[in-house]
Amino acid sequence: MAFNRILGQEKPKQILKNALQNSSVAHAYLFYGQESIGKKKAAIELAKALNCGSSIDGDPCDQCSSCRKIENNTHPDFFFLEPLKSTPTAREAIIKIEAIRELQRKLAYQPYEGKVKVAVIDDADLMNLQAANSFLKTLEEPPSSTLLILISSHPFKLLPTIISRCQTIRFQPLNPENIKRILKETVSEEMAEDSTLDFRTIRSRGSVKKALTEDMEDIANIREEMVNLLQNISFDRMDIVFSHAKSWARQSDQWEMILNELMELVRDIAFFRSGCSESEIFNRDIASTLKPLAARRSVKSWLEMFNAVHTTKAALSGNANAQLFFENMLIDFCKVA
Ligand SMILES: [Zn+2]
Repeated sequence: MAFNRILGQEKPKQILKNALQNSSVAHAYLFYGQESIGKKKAAIELAKALNCGSSIDGDPCDQCSSCRKIENNTHPDFFFLEPLKSTPTAREAIIKIEAIRELQRKLAYQPYEGKVKVAVIDDADLMNLQAANSFLKTLEEPPSSTLLILISSHPFKLLPTIISRCQTIRFQPLNPENIKRILKETVSEEMAEDSTLDFRTIRSRGSVKKALTEDMEDIANIREEMVNLLQNISFDRMDIVFSHAKSWARQSDQWEMILNELMELVRDIAFFRSGCSESEIFNRDIASTLKPLAARRSVKSWLEMFNAVHTTKAALSGNANAQLFFENMLIDFCKVA
């Protein structure tokens, strides 16, 4: 029953249920895969199943007090740790060593009312080095009756020594049918038109969070700006280069969205230019605008533009001079225009 509440993810669910039925649950797991596809839900179901008094075939009952307490994060033997921002204006949330030490103190005791203590560490790759090294000790000598579950969308950022001590389970992006099903159950009526749901589903790439949270008006405005830019940019219009670079440089919270949108548009245009069909395209709804635009340049030119955006995206993740990088990118666009 309970594991079935997670849509898709048949393989991870089967692995966990088999382990529960055979009493061969590992002492540490790493659930990895892109954001918002069911990893956290699976960790909670596993914690419930291990502590449930009336589980059936590895599935928790969802009714007993233990199941309900874990679901509500009020169970004394269930610990959920996630990255926190040190100040409200801090750029990135992290998991600090203090949080790991506190968890280690709690794990030192026997289960208080459950059978197994379960600690879930969400976004485990955001442990700083000190925290990660300290946590490694817990993985090397796990306390008795304890299950550790690490969750990560960027497992390559974890210490290899941490990964090697966990049983890894890969979660796949959700298929479009499942994304659409979740959207239908969640979104308001005015958003629930089939065309809107299709658009959200295509853009989500299998992530529920992306499908639910994208502001379609923002996206439409940004795309319009980008298409305009791609239609007009050339060495004759350096005014466009400088005005865009200057305005983007000021909106650091938008960089990722701006560059992602630009990259996806240029990708789609390159696909159209090479004769691909609409089914391969992310921005299908504006295909009639993108097709004539594609014809104006060679595939090679579009790919060089794609490369320029990609390089800029990588550079901006450091402390680069943003305006200069945006200008360089757009001048590269002019070169191939
Ligand atoms: Zn139960």
